[in-house]
Amino acid sequence: MSGERIRAVRALTVRGGGADYHDQAANHWIVGQVATPMSRYPAYRGTRSSWGIDALGTVVVEVEDEAGRVGVGVSTGGVPAAWLVAHHLDRFVVGRHPSQVELMWDQMYRSSLYYGRKGLALNAISAVDLALWDLWGRQRQEPVFHLLGGPVRRVLPCYATGPRPDWAVAEGFLGGKLPLVHGPDEGMVGLRQNVDTVARARDQVGADALLMVDCWMALDLNYAEQLVAGLAPLGVYWVEECFPADDYWSYRELRRRRPLGMRIATGEHEATRWGFRLLLEMEAADVIQPDVTWCGGLTELTRIAALADSWQVPVIPHGSSVYSYHFAAARAATPFSEFLMMHPTATGLTPMFAPLLLGEPLPLNGVITVPDTPGFGVELNRSLDLMPAP
Ligand SMILES: [Mg+2]
Repeated sequence: MSGERIRAVRALTVRGGGADYHDQAANHWIVGQVATPMSRYPAYRGTRSSWGIDALGTVVVEVEDEAGRVGVGVSTGGVPAAWLVAHHLDRFVVGRHPSQVELMWDQMYRSSLYYGRKGLALNAISAVDLALWDLWGRQRQEPVFHLLGGPVRRVLPCYATGPRPDWAVAEGFLGGKLPLVHGPDEGMVGLRQNVDTVARARDQVGADALLMVDCWMALDLNYAEQLVAGLAPLGVYWVEECFPADDYWSYRELRRRRPLGMRIATGEHEATRWGFRLLLEMEAADVIQPDVTWCGGLTELTRIAALADSWQVPVIPHGSSVYSYHFAAARAATPFSEFLMMHPTATGLTPMFAPLLLGEPLPLNGVITVPDTPGFGVELNRSLDLMPAP
């Protein structure tokens, strides 16, 4: 069909706060005290914005075909990621058909190896890749989950991430994932407070609801072992991201020593099949959680998922709304999905990428129904102050 080749790639950032989910108002739970790798420094313990979790902001990538159809992808990365797309990666995309995701991914990855491999460069590649899948779906007038092989399910049961699992369970979610508040440098008092918070939540949600704890890379092995021992009697389904993503050895040790029934989850800050290969071959995780906007995009996530399937490790992607939902709809081994509570007090349903994207589906009774509109089914909110890459 004519007009399907890509004629332009645009990388945009957004002026003004709130367009990236890391970048929220001061009273938002996600900005408030959550244990992080910076919690060892008291000056950076109170809020995640104090050390700059919002420093980068969002990058938006648009790919436009000769007929004027536009696909949209997003990631974290702001101006530096937008610069990489506009001055390096775009050359591998312009003139190609969006279905050539394999070729374009391989060239973007290989050509950025000398500075990339993980982090910002992979975020940029992810945003381009997602924009390509979106455009491909729009050209075919099909939802992305059709391009992935068709739906295994259209209805996705969800758990809710935020400080109010009681609210989430009453709303119909499978359960909730609490952010850990206190890190190792707050000692045994902090450890007891962490366990007490989970115990209160268990009392509120009842015995059957899923309850997880997200440690956002804040712990060391000794502390994680004590935490897991304290959480085991509370029926915690998984403990997430205890260590920095590079510390595969602590993940392996914690998993070896975990109590019966406890799962070790990680991977939201891991990237590419090679990063996940290490986690899988070291038997370091019971559940992996790639973020499709960071791990290399949908093209790479399908490879990561195939590897995980061969190890019988479920893939439950981190956040990322429709970009994850289309993957989950097309995957047998993704039993449920995450809904990240972007409501400031986690007591309401707010679309994850609001106000950046329009049309994100929201859970009803804790369940997302993936729309069958073309592409990922969302539109870029062009009323925002979007700026081209410098
Ligand atoms: Mg997490």
